[in-house]
Amino acid sequence: MTKADKKTSASDMTEHFSAMLAPLLDLPPTPGNQRVVYLHTPFCRSHCNYCPFYRHPAGKLKDFAQTTVKMIRALGQRPFVADSPFSVYFFGGGTPTILAPDDMGFLLAELTKNFRPAIGHEFTVESTLTRISPKMLDILKRNHVTRVSIGLQTFDENRRKMLGRPATRQEMVSKIKIARESGLETSLDLMYGIPGQMPEDLAEDVKLATDLGVDNISQYRLQLFDGAPLKKGIERGRISAMPSYDQVMETRLAGAQSALEAGYSHWNVKNFGKTKTTRCEYTLTPHEDRDMIPLGAGAGGQIGPKSIFTLPDADDYREAVRKGLYPVFRTGETATKQRVDRKVKGLLESGEVLLDKLAPDSVSLAYSRLEKLLEKEIVEKKDNAYRLTQGSFLDYERALDFTSSRG
Ligand code: SF4
Repeated sequence: MTKADKKTSASDMTEHFSAMLAPLLDLPPTPGNQRVVYLHTPFCRSHCNYCPFYRHPAGKLKDFAQTTVKMIRALGQRPFVADSPFSVYFFGGGTPTILAPDDMGFLLAELTKNFRPAIGHEFTVESTLTRISPKMLDILKRNHVTRVSIGLQTFDENRRKMLGRPATRQEMVSKIKIARESGLETSLDLMYGIPGQMPEDLAEDVKLATDLGVDNISQYRLQLFDGAPLKKGIERGRISAMPSYDQVMETRLAGAQSALEAGYSHWNVKNFGKTKTTRCEYTLTPHEDRDMIPLGAGAGGQIGPKSIFTLPDADDYREAVRKGLYPVFRTGETATKQRVDRKVKGLLESGEVLLDKLAPDSVSLAYSRLEKLLEKEIVEKKDNAYRLTQGSFLDYERALDFTSSRG
């Protein structure tokens, strides 16, 4: 198949999926469903060494904003979008704040005009540290954004350089202070499992973040992906080896202890909130069976059991939107068992599972999964609530790996 043939067949698929999804978008929304919008931009200013995600170097940003507004306006006419408001918005990437402030303002204004925010909605925008500025934050705030989520990874200058994100500690602290002063909620991503990182290093990163008063800290593990420059660096001996699983666990624990000592609450396996009520609703989306409309290039979402993925290539995306299509390149059906497992996993990661709170058609599958976990001492049961044991809460990746024999 030539390149041109491949393009034509991809475009035929998009036409097919766009037509297939049309009836869904003409239905009224499911009553009571806390609906979500996920908007994705594939653009980044530079490539972080560890990152496997699809990306485009910054370019054609205005074009992306205009194309996305066109898509937003078209979908905004459909009953499924127009007939009731949205509770949760997430603008991720890539780097959303790579857009020029005016383009960002235009895009967000059109988004919230066509996808109306519900009272008390949550709207998170991801940003790299370098793209934080008073002007950008002001635009976010004026357009219904409630939280900025900063991918900091670490305060350690040498490790940031190794990850391809150089910045001085002074710059990091000053940008976080700017974000805090904007009045938006702040969430900070901190990474563990970085080559050379010791448990006390993550503990210190967390302490700095809590001293700065960020509202939420998300601790996540560095993964090594094929093709990522970091992997090549390690293979060629230019970068120290990845730490062992036990070291990684020790580091994760040290970070958690540091957050707890600062009075933060451990509300989800990966997240620590400044107050007992801090929550990032978007994190709870995968197991709450919420309808999530994907917008932009390279976004994923679902309506009912149907998963939907938009075209990842910015040019294909523009072309499909220009033709008036929903720029989808793949859809699928989530099987009931998969959906129930996702729910059990998500509920355990954030607290507990109570069988009588589940939809009647999920109870028997959830019960059988939970009883297996109980037998293996991954969960414990008290007053009809299943919770992860203390050890499993820390080692949740292994404990909740339902594909392995443990689950
Ligand atoms: S900014 Fe985010 S998406 Fe872009 S290359 Fe870095 S880690 Fe990947």
